[in-house]
Amino acid sequence: MKTRLTILGATGSIGASTLDVVSRHPDRYEIVALTGMRQLDKLLAACVRYAPRYAVVLDEAAAEALACQLRQVGSTTEVLCGNAALIKVATLPEVDAVMAAIVGAAGMPATLAAARAGKRVLLANKETLVLAGHLFMQAAQENAAILLPIDSEHNAIFQSLPHPYPGNLDAAGVRRLLLTASGGPFRTFSQAELEQVTPEQAVKHPKWSMGRKISVDSASLMNKGLEVIEAHWLFNAPHDRIKVVVHPQSVVHSLVEYVDGSVLAQLGSPDMRTPIANALAYPERIEAGVEQLDLFAVGRLDFEAPDLKRFPCLQLAFDALAAGGAAPAMLNAANEVAVAAFLERRIGFTAIPRLIEMAVERAVGMPSSSLEELLEADSLARELVEVRLPCC
Ligand code: NAD
Ligand code: MG
Repeated sequence: MKTRLTILGATGSIGASTLDVVSRHPDRYEIVALTGMRQLDKLLAACVRYAPRYAVVLDEAAAEALACQLRQVGSTTEVLCGNAALIKVATLPEVDAVMAAIVGAAGMPATLAAARAGKRVLLANKETLVLAGHLFMQAAQENAAILLPIDSEHNAIFQSLPHPYPGNLDAAGVRRLLLTASGGPFRTFSQAELEQVTPEQAVKHPKWSMGRKISVDSASLMNKGLEVIEAHWLFNAPHDRIKVVVHPQSVVHSLVEYVDGSVLAQLGSPDMRTPIANALAYPERIEAGVEQLDLFAVGRLDFEAPDLKRFPCLQLAFDALAAGGAAPAMLNAANEVAVAAFLERRIGFTAIPRLIEMAVERAVGMPSSSLEELLEADSLARELVEVRLPCC
């Protein structure tokens, strides 16, 4: 039987890599639904190629335009629109697996719905775990959803842990999780140079080709901070047993240190099709189209400690995780607004951590046990940052 798949965020970088892997295995996968917010030409092309039952866009105008174009080419794909439709295609009874690859907190409702529906969730949208990790993990557990990490570091850790994972580090004989970070495009920049960097420089990652938001997050090391929180929830790991290691070659995707001194790692070319194929086929292995790792060409592997002074976002994320409550949700929301403002050239790169710090300070005492409370904290953080942005 084929695995029937919904891809949330099919027009993005992870979406495209997922479709690439799927296209190599037409005998194994069938696309039921594809979603996208922008780049409707990409969505149209994917609908023509994969003939999903549904395509979802965000607004009615886009839905009408897409439906019209699909009719013209004789496609029978039904076009739906809005957030309710995202949830619908993430929970359809005929869907086995959901690739959660929408960027930002906007991806949370449909990702959470997929977990509640007991789907096999291929989790790229790390912001869901940062915003509502507790609720998401609980929903997955209560509904027997299978969580497979797509983030390369978490997929590497997943591959380096015993299966089935007993649910905590001690029971697995694990001392620490070592998360690798490329260090991003500004790894060697001075503080003065960081003040001057442009969005174009920030989105040009030295090793990975990714969407704009995660590229800026990688440049600020906030991506690693979000990943620390993600690892905390996925593997039930206390914050002081997660260590970040800068590894510029991006060949070792992360490591697991066991109590007997063994350190297991997963290596490979920096290509997201590897973790995507791993999660799609788990526990089997399938061809992913990824270039073979040539260790002679790589030559050497370097490791260094992150510089938390030049990259304060990583420290802010560790602090938010340690503080708990609404702090991670507010960190994430403030970061999204600040990164968007940086990409629009409204603020400089080094203003991003300052704005986040200011917003997270307000998390103290905020209620955070329900989804509504977390979403309120998210909204407050967005407002706090927005009112401090320069007018344009
Ligand atoms: P992207 O910007 O390339 O694509 C994002 C997708 O989400 C697009 O399909 C877009 O149309 C859709 N989208 C954006 N805003 C939306 C909204 N409000 N409602 C509905 N859909 C919306 O992003 P990406 O790089 O593919 O990243 C996707 C997710 O995967 C992020 O959470 C990111 O952190 C994570 N991730 C990405 C990579 C990578 O290599 N790109 C690696 C690890 C994790
Ligand atoms: Mg990653």
